[in-house]
Amino acid sequence: MKRFACGDVVPGCEDVFLGATDDEVLDQALQHAAEAHGMTDVPPETLEHARGLVTTVA
Ligand SMILES: [Zn+2]
Repeated sequence: MKRFACGDVVPGCEDVFLGATDDEVLDQALQHAAEAHGMTDVPPETLEHARGLVTTVA
């Protein structure tokens, strides 16, 4: 399973996303970023940075 912590990109945010694949986790994170942080237009480099922060958990 994959895991992404929003706090790795947005300091202070404690939301964590889990999914089967990187894309599944990042889709959730993007939706969260738009709703919770008003980040409706995430640059590709930020998305790639976030992808690099996705970890694999058991
Ligand atoms: Zn967040």
